[in-house]
Amino acid sequence: YQARENMISETYTIPQLDMGQIRSDFPILDQIVNGKPLVYFDNAATTQKPRQVIEALAGYYERTNANIHRGIHHLAEKATAEFEASRRRIQNFINARLPEEVIFTYGTTDGINLVAQSYGRTFLQEGDEIIISTMEHHSNIVPWQMLCEEKGCVLRIIPINDAGELLMDEYEKMLSEKTKFVSVVHVSNALGTINPVAEIIKKAHEVGAKVLIDGAQATSHIDIDVQALDCDFYAFSLHKLYGPTGMGVLYGKEAILNAMPPYRGGGEMIKEVTFEKTTYNELPYKFEAGTPNIADVVAAKTAINYVENLGKEAIADYEHHLLRYATEALSSIEGLKIVGTAKEKVSVISFLMDGIHHQDIGVLLDQQGIAIRTGHHCTQPLMHRFGIPGTSRASFAVYNTTEEIDHLVAGLLKVKKMLG
Ligand code: PLP
Repeated sequence: YQARENMISETYTIPQLDMGQIRSDFPILDQIVNGKPLVYFDNAATTQKPRQVIEALAGYYERTNANIHRGIHHLAEKATAEFEASRRRIQNFINARLPEEVIFTYGTTDGINLVAQSYGRTFLQEGDEIIISTMEHHSNIVPWQMLCEEKGCVLRIIPINDAGELLMDEYEKMLSEKTKFVSVVHVSNALGTINPVAEIIKKAHEVGAKVLIDGAQATSHIDIDVQALDCDFYAFSLHKLYGPTGMGVLYGKEAILNAMPPYRGGGEMIKEVTFEKTTYNELPYKFEAGTPNIADVVAAKTAINYVENLGKEAIADYEHHLLRYATEALSSIEGLKIVGTAKEKVSVISFLMDGIHHQDIGVLLDQQGIAIRTGHHCTQPLMHRFGIPGTSRASFAVYNTTEEIDHLVAGLLKVKKMLG
């Protein structure tokens, strides 16, 4: 593959990052799995965490831990300050207008459910149409189906072409005064497709519909500017962005969030409680009932600092290099077919191998220390669209290398020899 690397480098410049430093920032990568050095290509499921994030988590519990907002003692004030500093850091990261527009959630799924339940149950009525797409993750399908069942709304689906790109003409035809909500994925976890969300948002606004963007797969690859996009909501998870699990963000425009009722009731989200009447807290606390994942929120800003110190553009360039390298290398394997060949895509490759079940590919690669994801990737309707039960998926992050891709290719050739 050195020859291939040379060939590729003739056509474009290979982006430079200090890979030695980056690899050493991720302690989990330095281990032997099934007798082989670990190759971790399951980054679309969750990314690994740099030492800095792990230390921020441990440091919080070692020196700061206390419950936030209500305490008046030193540690409570310190924990509150660190928690709220994370909110401002994230505000800056996605370019939200106000820190109050950043709601901490348990993840993308939680954020979408919040919007479907709070906004949807309040503002949507029987016969209203909600548009999603064929390539949605289950977490951007099921909450809307639940809402449709309850309110009698109608779910409409933007179709895709064989490359895994949205059919924008069909989307435009679907839009009407009946369209009240559009909820689409920014980057497909199963195909890697980057959707033209700015255009989707603009068209939806022309008919007066509100728009949520599922950014679960986008934030680690693409610069996000919610004001430039003009989305009404943007949901993402920190664990796909080199940060902790069980923690995410829902961005919402202030005026819309203010008009929405709370999603969960309990401590923190109230102003005053009597048995007769309860009044609710202001943004963002109205949507943050109970004790949140304080340590994870605090460590989230370290993850964002890590990403921004490397540089979003440098990361994107490098991952694009890995994508090109891997696409070419995998395509050279006879009987291997890539599913998802959109012009605009991130470093995710889903593939099929003639006559070999994806689960067998996953198991046999694992025996060689290579972690990939197999199955439907929580996108069963998308798999139905392609007429397949599932795929094998290799997804790359900033710490992956072309040498690791070479291992994957060698591993797949071995699988083919055994089962092909
Ligand atoms: N949306 C997409 C596109 C995803 O890839 C995922 C996770 O894989 C989710 C939503 C759900 O994210 P979480 O499980 O962190 O809530």
